[in-house]
Amino acid sequence: MLPAAVLIAVGVLVRFPVSAGSVSSQPGAPARSRTENVVLITLDGARTQEIFGGLDLDVLRTTLPKDRMAEQTRAYERYWAATPEAARVKLMPFFWTVIMAQHGSIAGNLARGSSVRVTNRHRFSYPGYAELLLGEAHDDVIDSNDKRRNPYPTVLEFLKQTLHLDKDRVAVFASWDTFDWIVEHDAGTIASNAGFDPYEGAGPAVDHVNRLQSEALTPWDGARHDAYTFELALAHVKRFRPRVLYLAFNETDDWAHDGRYDRVLDALHATDGYLRELWSVMQQDDAYRDRTAVVITADHGRGNTPADWRDHGSKIAGAEQIWMAFAGPDWPRRGEWRDSATIYQNQVAATLAQSLGIDYGQQHPNAGRPIAQLRSR
Ligand SMILES: [Zn+2]
Repeated sequence: MLPAAVLIAVGVLVRFPVSAGSVSSQPGAPARSRTENVVLITLDGARTQEIFGGLDLDVLRTTLPKDRMAEQTRAYERYWAATPEAARVKLMPFFWTVIMAQHGSIAGNLARGSSVRVTNRHRFSYPGYAELLLGEAHDDVIDSNDKRRNPYPTVLEFLKQTLHLDKDRVAVFASWDTFDWIVEHDAGTIASNAGFDPYEGAGPAVDHVNRLQSEALTPWDGARHDAYTFELALAHVKRFRPRVLYLAFNETDDWAHDGRYDRVLDALHATDGYLRELWSVMQQDDAYRDRTAVVITADHGRGNTPADWRDHGSKIAGAEQIWMAFAGPDWPRRGEWRDSATIYQNQVAATLAQSLGIDYGQQHPNAGRPIAQLRSR
């Protein structure tokens, strides 16, 4: 996260050693990487339509009784604006006016000639998260959302091993309980807190959050409210300063499945608040300020129309289309990507590794390559 005020000199191909010795950076990587930490954030099934355009009035109308005007709803009052650019700022003000306008860039707006796609054919959650964390789709093996141990080691485990990090410095906080099974192949390798897992040992204030999250039930058996996920993650960040952090929010997906478009919008707005708070905490911390790369994305898209916006999966057109935002000291692009070659979900693992000067592809030759556009300047 956090601004790169200075662009790094270009043109020198350097291979420089990292701590493991056996691993070297990608040829063409920035000559002097300033990135020491990576943060991955996912918003489950958050559509490109809301990310780039804010409230979709046609969708809102389909969720209302026939005699109810969309213009009379709280969602309209809070989030409606006349242009997509104004509406998305109302929905996610910090994301657009600070992260995107000043520090980062975002791919995936088809209207601007940018496309981000998943390569797995399933277009639902576990296969999407696995593609993000493994760098490739395994369609025949990873084909359900069941609580099954990830059959392959993830980039999180790879980074822990390569950087010789303690367990608590590679951390996952997720609202959906299945994440405990997705994020690591060898259980107990990294710090994983998902579903209604309590977060132990952080004092009475956090113990209170543990109690509340188990009492304030959601409509969904397997997922806590994102607000608790964020509170516990923040406690861990302050306590251990993880160098690899993954925050997985869920409510954008479950409210959509339930047809609660108003709550989908509220979840996006709440997530924007979490981004603001996390950004502020990291900005005040020497370990993170100007040394942290952030990728924000989704596991899958969903339907494009008022008829199928709730759904996703292999038969839903649009569910393969996602978005991806980047902010980091070695990634100087700003704002929306325009007229750019398509990028893919399977490139995230190698991109995160590369930002730390590590070549993921050397041990994972089938993984997507680091995103080349982040190096152009
Ligand atoms: Zn999902």
